[in-house]
Amino acid sequence: MGSGSWDWDWDWDWDWGATMTGRVRIVIAGGSFGGLTTAYELRRHLGPDRAEITLIAKDDRFAFVPSFPWVALGRRSLEQISFGLAGPLAAKHVAFAHETVTGIDTGAKVVLTDHAEHPYDFLVVATGHRSANDAVEGLGPFDGPGHSPMSAPETEELAGAVRRLLSDPGPVVVGAAPGASCIGPVYELAFGLDHLLRRRALRHKVPITVLTPEPFLGHMGMGGAGKIRQLLEGALEERDIAYRTSVAITAITDDAVETEGERSTPSVCSIVIPPLAGVRAVATSPGLTNPKGFVPVDDHYRHQTADNVYAVGVAVALPPAGETAVPVNFPKTGHMTEQMAGIAATDLAARVEGRQGPTAELSARCVLDMGDRGAYMSVDPVRPPRDRIPTVSEGRRWLLAKQAFERAYLYHARRGRKMPTTLGW
Ligand SMILES: Cc1cc2nc3c(=O)[nH]c(=O)nc-3n(C[C@H](O)[C@H](O)[C@H](O)COP(=O)(O)OP(=O)(O)OC[C@H]3O[C@@H](n4cnc5c(N)ncnc54)[C@H](O)[C@@H]3O)c2cc1C
Repeated sequence: MGSGSWDWDWDWDWDWGATMTGRVRIVIAGGSFGGLTTAYELRRHLGPDRAEITLIAKDDRFAFVPSFPWVALGRRSLEQISFGLAGPLAAKHVAFAHETVTGIDTGAKVVLTDHAEHPYDFLVVATGHRSANDAVEGLGPFDGPGHSPMSAPETEELAGAVRRLLSDPGPVVVGAAPGASCIGPVYELAFGLDHLLRRRALRHKVPITVLTPEPFLGHMGMGGAGKIRQLLEGALEERDIAYRTSVAITAITDDAVETEGERSTPSVCSIVIPPLAGVRAVATSPGLTNPKGFVPVDDHYRHQTADNVYAVGVAVALPPAGETAVPVNFPKTGHMTEQMAGIAATDLAARVEGRQGPTAELSARCVLDMGDRGAYMSVDPVRPPRDRIPTVSEGRRWLLAKQAFERAYLYHARRGRKMPTTLGW
C-alpha cells in the first residue's frame, strides 16, 4: 500500500473548521455490508485526490448473508448470492487487500495483517462477528452435531444436513442459544423447513420445535414489534410447529437438544443460532473493544476514545433492549449496518473538510420469509419507546419483495452503488 502524500500532524483536540490538506489514508477492515457500503459512500464523498482508501477482507467475495437460509434449504447456491470484491472496488479506486487482519495498533495507527502492515489516518472496523459456538456444548457444525447458518462454510454444511434429513426424516429443533442477537433466521429456517417438507410430503415424519431465549415470539432482542408476536404465534400454530420461549439451550447431542431445567427435545437435525462476539483480532487489540470484543462507539460510530477509529455493523457494541429471563441481545441487521456505514462515512468525510456529519437513530425494515409468504416489519427507531407504531404486514407479496430485493441489492452492489433501502431486507 502506498502512503500517499499525507503529512498532516493529527490534533486530537479536533479543530473544527480546519480542512485537512493532502490525501487521507483510510483503511476499512471488512468487506461485507458494513465495509463495502462504507467504501462506496466514502468514495462518493471523497475523490481519489482526497482519500486513499484500502479495504481489507479475509473473504475475497461479498455474500448476501440474508439469503443463507435459502442456501441451507437448497434454493440458492453460494455462487448465486455472491460476487468477487476486487473488480467493483477497483472501479471505485479502492485498493483491495485480500488479507486477514491479525491486530490493530491504535497508538501507531496501523492495521496488521497476515501479509502486511497498513498505516491509516482513519480506520473503519467492519469485521462483523465471531460465532461463540463454544457457548453451547455440541454446537458445531465442524466439531459437534449442531448446525448453524452464520457463515458461508457453516451454511453449506447445514445444506448437507438438510439433504440428509430429506432422505432420512426425523425430529428437528430450530433455535437460538442464550445471548443470541440474530433471531430472524430461526423463524425463517423453521418456516422454510416446514414448507420444504410439505412439498415433499414428508412433513408428517418431521416434528419441528422452535426453542428461543426470547420472552415471547418476535421479541427479536428489540422488545418486539407491534403485532409480530401474534402473527408468529398464529403462523407457527397453524403449521404445527411447536415452540417454547425463555428457553436456555445448554447442549446438543446426536439425537436431542438439552435445555436448562427441562426435559430434552428429540432432534436429529439441530439448527441453533449462537451468541455472537467480536472477531479475535479486534477483540485482542488493546483498548479497542468491550469484553465481548465489540467496539464501543458514539452517535457518529466513532470509537469512544480513539476517535479516528470508526466501527459499523455487527462489530459495534449495542446494549440489550432490556432484561429478559434468558439473555437476548440487541439485533444488528444488514439494514441497520448500512445506516451505520452511511452515518460513519458521512461524518468521516465531513471531518476531512473540517466539519462534523449528522447522526440519526437507527430504524429497521425486515422481511421474514415464511415459506409460502412473507412478513414485513418496520420499526422506527429500533430501540423502544418508538415514535411510530411498528408496521407489521403479511402476504405473498412480501416474499416476492424479499426475492426482488436480493437480486436488486446484488445488481447494485457489484456495480459500486449503495442500494436504496426504502423497501426490502
Ligand atoms: C442467516 C442470517 C440471516 C440474516 N438475515 C437478515 C435479513 O433478512 N435482513 C437483515 O437486515 N439482516 C439479516 N442478517 C444480518 C446481516 O447479515 C448482518 O447484519 C450483516 O451481515 C452485518 O454485516 P457486517 O458488515 O457488519 O458483518 P459481516 O457480514 O459479518 O462481514 C464481516 C466482514 O469482515 C471480514 N472479516 C472478518 N474477520 C476478518 C479479519 N480478521 N480480517 C479481515 N477481514 C475480516 C469478513 O470477510 C467479511 O467481509 C442475517 C444474518 C444471518 C447470519
